[in-house]
Amino acid sequence: YDDRDGLIWVDGVLRPWREAKLHVLTHGLHYGSAVFEGERAYNGHVFKLTEHSQRLLDSARIMDMTIPWTLEEIDEATRATLAASGLQDAYVRPIAWRGSEMMGVAGQKNTIHLAIAVWEWGAYFPDRMKGIRLDIGEWRRPHPKTAPTAAKATGLYMIATLNKHAAEAKGYADALMLDWRGQVAEATGANIFFVIDGELHTPLPDCFLDGITRRTVMRLARNRQMKVVERAIMPEEMARATECFLTGTAAEVTPVAEIGPYRFTPGDITRTLLEDYERTVRMTPEEVARIAA
Ligand code: PMP
Repeated sequence: YDDRDGLIWVDGVLRPWREAKLHVLTHGLHYGSAVFEGERAYNGHVFKLTEHSQRLLDSARIMDMTIPWTLEEIDEATRATLAASGLQDAYVRPIAWRGSEMMGVAGQKNTIHLAIAVWEWGAYFPDRMKGIRLDIGEWRRPHPKTAPTAAKATGLYMIATLNKHAAEAKGYADALMLDWRGQVAEATGANIFFVIDGELHTPLPDCFLDGITRRTVMRLARNRQMKVVERAIMPEEMARATECFLTGTAAEVTPVAEIGPYRFTPGDITRTLLEDYERTVRMTPEEVARIAA
């Protein structure tokens, strides 16, 4: 994705896309010391921009990294990069990493860099409206004492990539990941919800990302007087679920038709929340606050 026109914000400067390069001895590459965000802009505004910028700072702190920019500066840099792209609807990818001054596991002497790239990215799952098919991944989300699971850290995505490759090789769109206990966790880049007895059930985010989309959809559901339950969910319970969908910045609300042996029919609840979400992302931040979403 490196050979194209455009501008990428790198350490405070908008650089030509092809020149936004790193040294091969970058700590972030060797030791996974990098954190990132995935954001979407709609009508020229990044949805929940400050929440994403704050999560980037929080992820960095968890990884013992201090990003040399404030929350306001990151928000402003993101707006400037989006404006420079000329795009109204876009995907936004900020990433922070430890630099290349020193080699070795200890990274304190390495500069923390920040880059922000913006590009066009349509539906994460094309044809998603009829419901996607998920494999159940072999690789599980680790115990929070095994890996910094609350951070959106690049290293955690090796599990996601392995599961996604295996799923795609079998013809599935994505994989459901269980956690180290065998409980339902999330998809490789999105959270998961089930409709059970007319209520919305979703796993407790104790070893995976508490997605910004996940929290938005929970509020949209409660605004519609739906009951939302966060709890441990075992895979066998999927047999009782009638509807299922994924939530994520890239995936938005994606209906799920199949997970391993389990079948779901995208129905009224999924459709209502999908439409509510599509409407909400195009509201101004003031309107979003007014409907408390
Ligand atoms: N889980 C994983 C593994 C993800 O990569 C993402 C996307 N950032 C999510 C969940 C959903 O998070 P959000 O709704 O904040 O995009």
